[in-house]
Amino acid sequence: MGVIKNYGHLLPVTEKTPQITLEEGNTPLIYYPTISHDLGINLYGKLEMCNPTGSFKDRGMVLAVAKAIEEGARALICASTGNTSASAAAFAATAGVPCFVLLPAGHVAMGKLAQALMYGAKVIAVRGNFDKALEMARKAAENDGYAIVNSVNPYRLWGQRTGAFEIVDRLGDAPDWHALPVGNAGNISAYFAGFCQYKEIKKSTKIPRMMGFQAEGAAPLVTNKPCPNPETVATAIRIGNPVSAHLAREAVEKTNGEFNSVTDEEILAAQRYLASKGGIFAEPASCAPLAGLCKLKREGRLPSGITVTMVQTGNGLKDPDTALKQVGKPIEIGDTLDELLAVMKG
Ligand SMILES: *Cc1c(COP(=O)(O)O)cnc(C)c1O
Repeated sequence: MGVIKNYGHLLPVTEKTPQITLEEGNTPLIYYPTISHDLGINLYGKLEMCNPTGSFKDRGMVLAVAKAIEEGARALICASTGNTSASAAAFAATAGVPCFVLLPAGHVAMGKLAQALMYGAKVIAVRGNFDKALEMARKAAENDGYAIVNSVNPYRLWGQRTGAFEIVDRLGDAPDWHALPVGNAGNISAYFAGFCQYKEIKKSTKIPRMMGFQAEGAAPLVTNKPCPNPETVATAIRIGNPVSAHLAREAVEKTNGEFNSVTDEEILAAQRYLASKGGIFAEPASCAPLAGLCKLKREGRLPSGITVTMVQTGNGLKDPDTALKQVGKPIEIGDTLDELLAVMKG
């Protein structure tokens, strides 16, 4: 049904809001038995990679695009580390409006670039980082008729609240901890707002500790100062000056949560762990929460028996280069049964 139909009554939707949808949202929440056992917790993954463009961005984008059209926009613009552009381009395509996307040149995962181009957006590679591209997009959007659909657009965060609603609807209450990767800090802020909204209307009894994980080379919320040259293999969170930093800080402070950072090596190890023990192939940024939970476990700071949900924000297929660099090559053999049997015996 999609986010607007399913949860419109809890969102700023009016009878004039166009009912666009790519059937986003309603994603699986899966239990990880092996990893739960290893970590001594009950661990669930919210598979946001199952959204139509392969990331959670679709939840907020559908509302941002619908409201932009409702308010008379004739074109959309965004800056992106990749997934926002894929999502904006897809919803612009279905809604029939032009879309301009600004990407940091040379720092976007291949799958995401292919998506934006396939959906027919005007793709502009900026020789600069994401933060710079966003500044440019915001200035350009001051022109008449343009709507900016980055998470500075409040409707993005409204739509993203629905991830929290679905988790509570599925588990019957909020989890003890909720862990996510943090880049521009919109999603952690949106989940916090969603958990609060659900508690207010008595759908849940508690609000989870919000646990935000950043990459060590792009961790402004951990170091408490902007990071002028963010660097990480997790390109989706390669952001040095998060626009929703104030909201994210509030989410963490009010829930006694924390921001923590993990190294690229820890992120990649978590990516392999999640795939090989959990059966889910998520993109590097999506694995920062698991890397963080493993780190807390090693430090003796992960309480046993708690229920933890983590957001698997994007699909591993979007960034095959990073995956293939880590794993071995296939074993090549001739086309004889003997050779196959020899390999199978090890
Ligand atoms: C956008 C994105 C993030 C970061 O989310 P923010 O709301 O910017 O903090 C993390 N992972 C993936 C895969 C993303 O696309």
